Amino acid sequence: MKLAERLEEFKKLFRARGLKITHQRMEVFRELAGSEEHPDAERIFRKVRKRIPAISLDTVYRILATLEEQGLIRKAEGLSHSTRYDANRDHHHHFVCTRCGTVRDFYSEAMDQLAIPKHVASLGEVQSAQVLIRGICSACALKTRTPKSVSRKEVSHGQET
Ligand SMILES: [Zn+2]
Ligand SMILES: [Zn+2]
Repeated sequence: MKLAERLEEFKKLFRARGLKITHQRMEVFRELAGSEEHPDAERIFRKVRKRIPAISLDTVYRILATLEEQGLIRKAEGLSHSTRYDANRDHHHHFVCTRCGTVRDFYSEAMDQLAIPKHVASLGEVQSAQVLIRGICSACALKTRTPKSVSRKEVSHGQET
């Protein structure tokens, strides 16, 4: 879903439930819905504060709780020690970079249809399954490769002269 659609959905839902669409609520949701970072509350706070200097971290926490209650966002579990939030409500999976902490959403029918092992089902009623893949993202992989290729070039250049 695009940002504009998510914002529309947010407004519609709040209106339908008689909740006030305040500037602060709107900006917190926009920050989350417009980012793929799965940010935590402090990161959202730092970004929103640039546009609304009077907002407090406490307010951001309260707004996030309200948005979660209304089912517009949810906590993205197990990404890091701090609680991170996700405004993507389509069923999806996560790729987490162990170096920079970037979290990317991805979709996979094969993973949506993962068979739940019987002994897991015996632990309790399964509602959904989300796959978490950890690795080094391509941006980080590129960063570690670049210095090596540069130095190799320098060496070959030195041999030529
Ligand atoms: Zn990375
Ligand atoms: Zn996500």
